[in-house]
Amino acid sequence: MDRGMIHVQRLSYGRQKETALVPEELRSPWSRFRPVPRDCPVERAHRILVHTHALHYRLDDLHHHPSGLPGLLLMVQSSPQNTGSWTSWHEEGQPLRLGVSTCLLGENVRFDSGHAHDRFVTETLGQWFELVPVCPEVEIGMGIPRATIRLVDEGQGMKLVAPSTGEDFTKPMADYSRKKVAELRKLDLDGYILKKGSPSCGMERIKLYMKGMPGPRNNSGVFAAELMKQWPGLPVEEDGRLNDPGLRENFIERVFSRNRWRGLVTRGLTRRRLVEFHTSHKLLIRAHNESAYRRMGQLVGSAGTVKDRELFDAYEREFQAALCTKATVKKHVNVLQHAQGYLKDILNAVEKRELMAAIEDYRQGLLPLVVPLTLMRYNIRLHEIEYLSSQLYFDPHPKELMLRNHS
Ligand code: SF4
Repeated sequence: MDRGMIHVQRLSYGRQKETALVPEELRSPWSRFRPVPRDCPVERAHRILVHTHALHYRLDDLHHHPSGLPGLLLMVQSSPQNTGSWTSWHEEGQPLRLGVSTCLLGENVRFDSGHAHDRFVTETLGQWFELVPVCPEVEIGMGIPRATIRLVDEGQGMKLVAPSTGEDFTKPMADYSRKKVAELRKLDLDGYILKKGSPSCGMERIKLYMKGMPGPRNNSGVFAAELMKQWPGLPVEEDGRLNDPGLRENFIERVFSRNRWRGLVTRGLTRRRLVEFHTSHKLLIRAHNESAYRRMGQLVGSAGTVKDRELFDAYEREFQAALCTKATVKKHVNVLQHAQGYLKDILNAVEKRELMAAIEDYRQGLLPLVVPLTLMRYNIRLHEIEYLSSQLYFDPHPKELMLRNHS
């Protein structure tokens, strides 16, 4: 593909599909979602947004371009080199950064000189995030290959030892972890993906050996425990759990939300900006935790009666905690029905029935969440429902991650 051009797909009501090229001079820093105007002069114009996570086009430019592109729905298929400049779910200029256990990137750093390559991390998340690799065992000088280590408790507290050699790595790993996490905090990560089952990196359910026998599985790896202790607000997951579509979506949603919050803090947190932030996250928060949503509303309403610093800190704590609660089908249905209320006097009977049917089918597990959401989004933009247009719930992360394609 020519770097100066981008392929677009034109769809008509008749479902014809063609491809066309949008010349480079039409690229624009203009970066807001925008509906095709009601009075769009182009024949059969479909009032839908033109959007790509890479580039955005002024519809006016397209309409009046000598290429005579008809004003049908333009869906841009972005090329890989164009990824990364979206603005609705991500603050521009605010890098997206994830800490990752090095072996998940396919690096041969494991005890047996192997790796634990996770393609979702490298090929999907890697397109959007800067990945910061950390291998605690290599970084404390254990070498590759190396003896296997495990957590043991022989009555003198938990230790990290290599049973085959008797070496004790408890202190070096604890010292390293404290220092490394402090260094990582300076990088402003948005999240961390750990390797499951590792006595160094595992997030949970790490086996503790007592008197040579496997004991309870309720520990974290030494490095992981320090990471979560020093940095409680950081979204942390491990590779195994990310195979669960619900947990995966929840984690990525928290990561993008944290990035937006960091962007807000970087720009300078004010009461007005906090209100704007809260307003655009209302439905997203409700999909996770209704009671936290109410508490956060009260907090924002108390602006001016408490010190700003206390208000901002309390809001950040509530925001992070609220998003930790997993969004369920029931909660999504509640949010969708609430949003539907804004359309009740606008849609005709058939449109209402279609929307209600899509929500009900999602509730019953017959359709993935993306279906009622897409229908809802279409109507919101078609009818220019201002409050709902501003809700990040409808676009909390890049669609390319396909996080809402599960039922
Ligand atoms: S689990 Fe952690 S310590 Fe073990 S190889 Fe992977 S990154 Fe290194």
